[in-house]
Amino acid sequence: MQVKDVLAHKSGGVATIEPGMSVAEVVAALAEHGVGALVVSSDRRTIEGIISERDVVRALNTFGPGLLGMEVREIMTVNVHTCVPTDEVRLLARTMTDKRFRHMPVTINGALSGIVSIGDLVKSRMDEMETEHDQLVDYISSAR
Ligand code: AMP
Repeated sequence: MQVKDVLAHKSGGVATIEPGMSVAEVVAALAEHGVGALVVSSDRRTIEGIISERDVVRALNTFGPGLLGMEVREIMTVNVHTCVPTDEVRLLARTMTDKRFRHMPVTINGALSGIVSIGDLVKSRMDEMETEHDQLVDYISSAR
């Protein structure tokens, strides 16, 4: 199974935020979109960073309540790992587990085109295993 198969089962686009917006706006956008991370981009194509709820919690511990008025660029992660639609889900899940992040933006020709979460990957893997299981049960039953 590839990333594009996971994206085919997802609705909606990628939630983004501009680097000059405030952390208060990040919190509002995370809640509004019901997601755990936002891609930071000024034009919705170029990835400038990523900011997740974990960054907000860590920064709250460092800066205190004044954090809400700070800019996204001050606390975002700049070195973003991305994937492409033809990447294998199994390998991607391994990378995300090893590197300890739960979100991976998807690019086509370097431009932002989607995002997958570890939850999306686990769900698609479970669906795949259920299908394999059902096929095996059918095969065994028909061989009797
Ligand atoms: P998450 O598990 O996605 O909430 O993110 C945990 C940490 O990893 C946060 O500091 C994020 O900014 C960072 N992070 C999330 N996704 C990525 C990614 N694809 N590449 C690099 N860092 C990431």
